[in-house]
Amino acid sequence: MEPSISQRLAQIHARMDEACARCGRDPETVELIAVSKKKPASMIDAAAHAGQQLFGESYVQEFCDKEAEVTEDVRWHFVGALQSNKVKYLRGKVEMIHALDRYSLAREINKQWRKLDKTIDVLIQVNLAGEQSKAGVAPEDVQALVERVAELPHVRVRGLMALPPMAEDPEETRPWFRQLCALAHKLDTLELPGVSMDTLSMGMSHDFEVAIEEGATLIRVGTAIFGAREVDHGA
Ligand SMILES: *Cc1c(COP(=O)(O)O)cnc(C)c1O
Repeated sequence: MEPSISQRLAQIHARMDEACARCGRDPETVELIAVSKKKPASMIDAAAHAGQQLFGESYVQEFCDKEAEVTEDVRWHFVGALQSNKVKYLRGKVEMIHALDRYSLAREINKQWRKLDKTIDVLIQVNLAGEQSKAGVAPEDVQALVERVAELPHVRVRGLMALPPMAEDPEETRPWFRQLCALAHKLDTLELPGVSMDTLSMGMSHDFEVAIEEGATLIRVGTAIFGAREVDHGA
């Protein structure tokens, strides 16, 4: 029999705990985001029922439809690529935006959260390998973007996010995770006003343990919780 969502969540938490034990980290410092894109609201409710509180979505329209449908009280992060003209639909509904990679987008986020008189946490997406097909700022340009975003009063930079090149063997991804962590440390030592570098969003279904060993504080796991997705345009 297929394991239930509740069983899969329990397995992932056990693996997270083991990864933390291996590298001497407190399990409380790593949070699991259940990435529910392409999965129905009923599965989100099932996961929430099993104790999962935080969910990640990648597509604005899909998120809005499901957010209205989910009956459990859950928290949302937006983890996908985001167009400025769609930020308004996320206003007040998500607690973090993971893929900030340009100032124009930050300005629009600031404008929308100003209307609420609130502040939203964001992560800067870094394109570590310079992949043409992926969004994200080049590592050498991150500091300049962080400094500009830090001046926006309704946006708070909390750290970095990356989607490193896919590799069959998660060990091949380790150097990328290590690089993201080192970059966050470097930015942290600059003590830029209004910037915290306490959050590292990295690691997915096939490599989250390695990501935890390299310092991830948020892991984004979809398939391992909800099963394979039918269609996926990629985020
Ligand atoms: C879909 C997605 C994930 C989850 O990927 P899985 O391999 O299914 O765990 C994580 N991060 C982002 C940005 C995604 O779009």
